[in-house]
Amino acid sequence: MKKLTIGHLYPKLLNIYGDGGNIITLKKRAEWRGYDVEVDEINSGDSQIKEHDIYFIGGGQDLQQIEVSKELQKHKEFLLSERERGAVFLGICGGYQLLGHYYQPLEGDRLLGISLLDAYTVAGRNRFIGNVTVNTEYVFSPTLVGFENHSGLTYLQGETKPLGVVVAGNGNNGQDKTEGARYKNVFGTYLHGSFLPKNVNFADYMLELALGEKLIKLDDEIETNAHNALIGKM
Ligand code: GLN
Repeated sequence: MKKLTIGHLYPKLLNIYGDGGNIITLKKRAEWRGYDVEVDEINSGDSQIKEHDIYFIGGGQDLQQIEVSKELQKHKEFLLSERERGAVFLGICGGYQLLGHYYQPLEGDRLLGISLLDAYTVAGRNRFIGNVTVNTEYVFSPTLVGFENHSGLTYLQGETKPLGVVVAGNGNNGQDKTEGARYKNVFGTYLHGSFLPKNVNFADYMLELALGEKLIKLDDEIETNAHNALIGKM
């Protein structure tokens, strides 16, 4: 069976609201199908990153984002080449913001991202906290659910498109009813929770993109019940 490699970017700095659960979901759902899975942590000070099938970066507070923003600049060209190679990326909240061009906090310097997504974020004066439901057209339809906690307002540009339309909660910026982003195989979302255990169609979509093959269906009754219990909740 094929081996799946996952690069977990800065888990010691960006890993709030259970975002590490997304790694566990990807790992277990691949192993349950018989794949061998290798998870590598990429931390501050690492000089090089090897190629991975999937990269994940979680959420965090502005302070931790400052350090990660600086660290990511060292790997920007490599990670852009990984996007072009077809690697799959998922960024959650603060990590999502750094997959775009920049995050401008209310105070202090602009935090540079790595421009995997044609998007930018500026801090708002209100903090969006609560459950979110998104209607989505993608194959992992029809809905995505999760929990948001951010002051950043993210705006998409060019070929970077949203994951869907917010039907409960705020999403990217609380103005244009979009949530999340996709460009090529790079995905971002504000949905914590963890995101993937309650959105297993999305998890399997990421795995199929990374592995390059269709996966057998699993018995997802528990995950589906957890997903459905959140639909429409505020
Ligand atoms: N610090 C960022 C914001 O407040 C991201 C927060 C997060 O990752 N939950 O928008």
